Amino acid sequence: MADARVLVGRSVARSLNDTTLERSDRFTRRRKRAPKLAILTSEDPSAQSYLRSIGTTAGRVGVVLEEMPIKPGTTTELALSMVAGLNDNREIDGILLQTPVTEGVDARAVARALDPSRDVDGITPMQAGMLFQGMRKAIAPSTARACIEILDYYKYGLEGVEVVVVGRSLVVGRPVALLALSRNATVTWCHTKTLSLSNVCKRAEVLIVAVGKPGFVGSGFVRPGATVIDVGINVGEDGKLVGDVDVAGISSMAAAYTPVPGGVGPVTVASLFASLLDLAEARGRQA
Ligand code: NAP
Repeated sequence: MADARVLVGRSVARSLNDTTLERSDRFTRRRKRAPKLAILTSEDPSAQSYLRSIGTTAGRVGVVLEEMPIKPGTTTELALSMVAGLNDNREIDGILLQTPVTEGVDARAVARALDPSRDVDGITPMQAGMLFQGMRKAIAPSTARACIEILDYYKYGLEGVEVVVVGRSLVVGRPVALLALSRNATVTWCHTKTLSLSNVCKRAEVLIVAVGKPGFVGSGFVRPGATVIDVGINVGEDGKLVGDVDVAGISSMAAAYTPVPGGVGPVTVASLFASLLDLAEARGRQA
């Protein structure tokens, strides 16, 4: 098989951001203000790097940001009162809680306190439940949405397709499997207790990998002609970013794959803003 096609996340992100900008302009004309995203920020370096990408894209899609740092030493009570303040502000269309939340703060309690109608990353039980029920207006975590946006952009239909997801975290593995299921894929979930993992992965026409281990998935995991979505972001021995997939190993087997960096990452940021506009427009219809 020829070398696999690279699914370029930046192209997907550009296309999604173009649509978000049109939606944002329309919102601004109607509501006489730009859509607004509030972010409860984390001092963690990877969260700060994500925050910088969010800042760049916000300018590109006409969204106003309001940042509120959850600093070290913040108590759960204080974090909850910050959330309550944001929930009370009707001009905020979406709220993002960055993780990891600083030590001493009960992150689950803070997540549960978010107004579900402004939960832009699908972390509240209400949004997660809507996703579980297959409701179209459910807001999925941005990374999970990004995987599906990439498949949509490159016109990989999922109906009847064998999708295997490695990873079952609340932010990636679980929601992406539910999204694939709602597209009528035949979905298998894998995790640390899965037996014969490589054999299960070899069933996949679309293999989505979110384990957090550099180069974990090699050629022995990939069915010839498969599409491989690599969600992993890891720092390699040389300090460079690497995914969960060993690209050199799989590229003669797979038909297509997402690179790291430049694959799922940029689409995650674009998906965040697409979800913000979903929420802003839904609230606008209710106003
Ligand atoms: P996580 O919460 O640590 O979950 C990892 C999942 O992988 C768990 O479900 C775990 O199974 C499974 N797993 C780990 N080792 C395994 C093994 N040897 N065999 C089978 N399954 C295994 O991680 P996460 O938050 O989902 O993130 C996963 C990766 O995606 C990380 O590299 C992270 O940096 C990256 N990420 C990227 C983006 C992006 O925008 N591109 C966003 C979020 C995360 P158990 O449940 O059994 O423990």
